Amino acid sequence: MSIVYDTIIIGGGPAGCSAALHLGYHKRKVLVLDRGTSPMHFHTNSIMNFSTGMAYTEGRTLIRQLSGAAKGAGAKFRPANVCEVSGAYPEFTVETEPSYRTKDRSLYKAKTIIFATGTARKHPIVDGHWRKWLPIANAGNGAFYCPDCEAPLTKGKRVLVVNVGTVGSALHIANSVARFTKKIRILMTEDAYVPFRDQDFSKLDESPFPWTSGKIKSVRFIMPGTSQTLVLESGERLSADVFFVAFVAKPRTEIAQALGIEVDDKGNIVTDKRGKTNVEGVWAAGDCRAITQQVAMAVGTGNYAALMVNQFLGNEAEKEAEFDHPEMRELPFL
Ligand SMILES: Cc1cc2nc3c(=O)[nH]c(=O)nc-3n(C[C@H](O)[C@H](O)[C@H](O)COP(=O)(O)OP(=O)(O)OC[C@H]3O[C@@H](n4cnc5c(N)ncnc54)[C@H](O)[C@@H]3O)c2cc1C
Repeated sequence: MSIVYDTIIIGGGPAGCSAALHLGYHKRKVLVLDRGTSPMHFHTNSIMNFSTGMAYTEGRTLIRQLSGAAKGAGAKFRPANVCEVSGAYPEFTVETEPSYRTKDRSLYKAKTIIFATGTARKHPIVDGHWRKWLPIANAGNGAFYCPDCEAPLTKGKRVLVVNVGTVGSALHIANSVARFTKKIRILMTEDAYVPFRDQDFSKLDESPFPWTSGKIKSVRFIMPGTSQTLVLESGERLSADVFFVAFVAKPRTEIAQALGIEVDDKGNIVTDKRGKTNVEGVWAAGDCRAITQQVAMAVGTGNYAALMVNQFLGNEAEKEAEFDHPEMRELPFL
């Protein structure tokens, strides 16, 4: 425990890797602790709305590229599950304990912290357990989650919206893909995370989309993007080329909250536009903030937070300085 890192980044998804790259590049001692559950650790679709400047990249390759660049710049990465952050600037203690993907049990010290812990998405339940959905979630074009990222990929396909949230979230997905396909059906899963009794089904009846409800018993899924079928407990079979999940998300911010970091009513970490939290020496980036859940946003906010941390560490006199130089607004640009 003798090293005191300049910054410990909790989470090694796109936001954490981007922050690590900037801090490593600026020769800061930076450690990324990551338990390896970013969607990008599993994702085998091409990321169509984020370019690495070369070919479109699938998620797993993208995360290897992002972490590889940060390691190349000098950032250290450790597979570890953080269970507690304590202390205050300039000395935080970060404690890890084993998780189902990590073995590390240690204490680490840092002057500053960046939370880049992402958000947890609730998956549909198959025969009583959400883990049985994962082989589909992670395989090629089997199941989509984000209309901003994937709606255009549904062009002309049969889409089944598999809803685990509210009627509103199911309709949002259906309306978003309706520009690309007319073959849309909605399944309201009865063991959704929002109780059935609280749902307003009249909105579905008024919508142009056929819908049904039930619990998923099994999935027949041969190859990504080909015809795939959900079998309901009632015996009803629903076939589609794409399952589009209307999910529920919960930001992973419990550890930040225990440190006294302010969150909004949905649990997202509250920051200023630069990613600074209410706790001195602590920033946040990516999906654990209330931003659109996109790789580009995660990378951008990770970079911005790291930039501010680097300035904070480097120059006491400029700790509170505005990075975007408001005095420049007065200049007569032509
Ligand atoms: C199926 C799917 C497809 C998607 N497709 C696209 C797409 O095509 N284009 C696009 O732009 N976006 C896409 N997204 C969204 C994109 O994946 C996220 O916006 C992005 O990954 C957010 O990055 P992040 O670094 O903020 O969080 P994450 O990627 O979630 O990374 C957070 C990391 O923190 C780690 N962590 C959390 N808590 C702890 C802890 N206590 N200790 C240690 N580590 C911890 C997690 O294990 C994880 O590795 C998709 C999302 C999903 C689910």
